[in-house]
Amino acid sequence: MPLFNHGFLVIQTRRPDRFFFGHLEIAEWMMHNGINIEKATFPHPAGASPLGSVYQNKHQTETLEERFMNWNKCREYQDELVRMRRDLHRIPELGLHLPKTRAYVIGRLEELEIPYTLSHLDSSILAVISGGQPGKTVALRADMDALPIQEETDADYASCHEGLMHACGHDAHTAMLLGAAKILKARQSQLRGTVLLVFQAAEEGARGAKALLARDALAGVDGIFGIHIGSILSKDIPAGTLIASPGCCMASCDRFVVRVSGVGCHGSTPEKGVDPINIAAHIILALQAVNSREFNACVPVVLTVGSIHGGQQYNIIPTEVVIEGTIRTLDAQVRQQVARRIGEISAATAAAFGGSARLEMDWGAGPVVNDPDMAALAADAAREVLGPHWVVTRVEHPNMGGEDFACYLEKIPGAFLFLSSANPQKHTDIAHHHPRFNIDEDVLWMGAAVYAATAEKFLKG
Ligand SMILES: [Zn+2]
Ligand SMILES: [Zn+2]
Repeated sequence: MPLFNHGFLVIQTRRPDRFFFGHLEIAEWMMHNGINIEKATFPHPAGASPLGSVYQNKHQTETLEERFMNWNKCREYQDELVRMRRDLHRIPELGLHLPKTRAYVIGRLEELEIPYTLSHLDSSILAVISGGQPGKTVALRADMDALPIQEETDADYASCHEGLMHACGHDAHTAMLLGAAKILKARQSQLRGTVLLVFQAAEEGARGAKALLARDALAGVDGIFGIHIGSILSKDIPAGTLIASPGCCMASCDRFVVRVSGVGCHGSTPEKGVDPINIAAHIILALQAVNSREFNACVPVVLTVGSIHGGQQYNIIPTEVVIEGTIRTLDAQVRQQVARRIGEISAATAAAFGGSARLEMDWGAGPVVNDPDMAALAADAAREVLGPHWVVTRVEHPNMGGEDFACYLEKIPGAFLFLSSANPQKHTDIAHHHPRFNIDEDVLWMGAAVYAATAEKFLKG
C-alpha cells in the first residue's frame, strides 16, 4: 500500500462506484459540506505504513515521531511477548491457586527489578512501579487463570496440563501486562505517580477480584484499567481494534440453585408422594415468564437453566431435584429483581403441587460499568498507540457475558477495554471457551502499549 505512505486514505461515498484517495483534510471538508462518507480506510499500525501519517498536516507542531513513535517502539517487545504468552499457555491453571503461573510472573518481575507483594490466600501478585515524581496511583489489571477444557488446537505451545486450557486469552493478558511493566519500568523516572500492576487469579467464577478487594489490596488506587483480548464483542471486529466504550459494556453474571423438595415413593403410586420432577418441570417453564413478561422488552435479561438433576431410576419418584442456572442483566436493580422473582415463582409453584422449593444465590459479579471519563481517557491513549481509526468508542449493545472487573469498577473509577484478536485467516475468530480458541498474537504489543499509554495518560491528567 505505497499510497498510504504519503498520508492518503481511501474514501468511499454513498455511491458505491465512487472510490477515491484523498488526504484527511479532504475527508473533513467533505463532511463539513454534507457529503456523506460511507467508509474511510486507513492503514493499520501493524502494517508496513507509518503510523499516523494521515495526521501529518493536522498536527504540524508535532512530528510523527513525537506523537506516535514512542508507542510504536513497543513493537520491539513483540517477540518477547509472544514467548511469554506461549510459556503461560503451556501451563494453564484453575481458580485462586496458580503456583506455576505465579512463579513465572515473579521470575519476569524480578528480572525487571520491580518489587511485588504476594498473598497466602491466593496467587494474585501486586507489583509496584513508583514514578520519579509524586502523584496519583493507577492500577492495571490482568487475569491469569485458565479453564477446565481439553485443548484441541494443533499449536506446538498447546497446554501441557491434561484437561486444562487458556481458552479465554488470560495468558495473553498476563503477557501484555508484563510487557507494559517493562515499558513503564524503562520510563519510570518520567512517571508522575505510581503504577500498581494487578495480576489477578480466579476471574472465571468471579472470585479473584473479590478476594483482592476483601483484603483492601487496592486501597489508595485512583483509577483502574483492564483489557480483554479476543472476540468477546464480535468476531467481525478486525484484529488490532481497541474498544473503549462509556457506561455498561458487560452484564452481571450470577449462578442460582433451586432445590425442589417432594416426597419420594414408588413410581407406580405417585399419589403416595409429591413428585419433585413434575414440580421442577413447572418451575422451569414458569421461570421463562420472568424475562418475557415482567420487564420492559428493551431491558436485557437472560435467564438460562443449564442443569437439572434428580432421580436415580425410572420407576422411583425422588425426594429432591436440583435446578441450576445463570442470570445476566445490565442493571443492578434488575439483577436483584430477577433473583427475587426466581425465588418467589419457585416457592409458589412448588407449594401449588404440595412440595417446596428453596433458592440459593451464588452472587458472581455485577454489570461492568465504565466511567465515561476513564473510557474517554483510555480511548485517547489507545489512539496514540494504534492511530485514530482503530479505536472504537461506541458499541451497538453491551455483551451479556460477565467479568469480575466489575467489582473494581463498583469502587474505583476506571474502564474495561477490549482488544480484538479476531482474524479469520488465522482462525482466531473462534468463540471464547472453545477448545480451539486462539488469538492473533500480532496484537500483543498493542495491548502492552495500550496498558502503558493509558497509565501514563491517567497519571499526567
Ligand atoms: Zn472466560
Ligand atoms: Zn476472560
